[in-house]
Amino acid sequence: MADSKVYFFDMSMTKDNIITLPNTHLRERSKKVGIITDQIRDLIADMEAATLDWEASREHEVGVALAAVQIDQLIRIVVVRNNFDDKKDTSFQVFINPEIAKYEGELEEDFEGCLSVKDIYGKVPRYTKVRVKALDENGKPIRLTAEGFLARIFQHEIDHTNGIVFIDHIKDNPKAFYRLGDDGHLNPLDYEKDVANNSILW
Ligand code: ZN
Repeated sequence: MADSKVYFFDMSMTKDNIITLPNTHLRERSKKVGIITDQIRDLIADMEAATLDWEASREHEVGVALAAVQIDQLIRIVVVRNNFDDKKDTSFQVFINPEIAKYEGELEEDFEGCLSVKDIYGKVPRYTKVRVKALDENGKPIRLTAEGFLARIFQHEIDHTNGIVFIDHIKDNPKAFYRLGDDGHLNPLDYEKDVANNSILW
């Protein structure tokens, strides 16, 4: 296959490749990337395709980011959408071996959801500002400071590379859990009934 070098989209990768709780791989640490091979580039394309396919099926949500573990590859890669407000902008930025170099600002609670935790949202405390270091898809070092929603996304995604799901941060807080309704609104969950004793989540 001489001319098969262009795999911007691997259309075989869909939302069905995204793993969800209670899959135990979501609570495992991912491995560092050594050399950025064609396989790694394929994996990145797969992550982007799966995120966009998931978004196409969700009326009220945007697929803002994904970690490789979410398509069942325990490798430290995160992709983040360049534009959260315009679903038509389907470009991503790639972060390989991402780390939080420094937490700054203060802890702030806000709503968070996850492609691997269906319909459940939570009010999660996160730092308002973080310094991130990573490599780009060519192996070049990236250093950036993220604030607000973007800072939250990096903390959420880098948690994934360490086997942590957002609900793990709020598991003892009965007031932190919500469900996304068909109308796009978030409704508080019954903690005892729907959260604490839910074997899908823990
Ligand atoms: Zn997530």
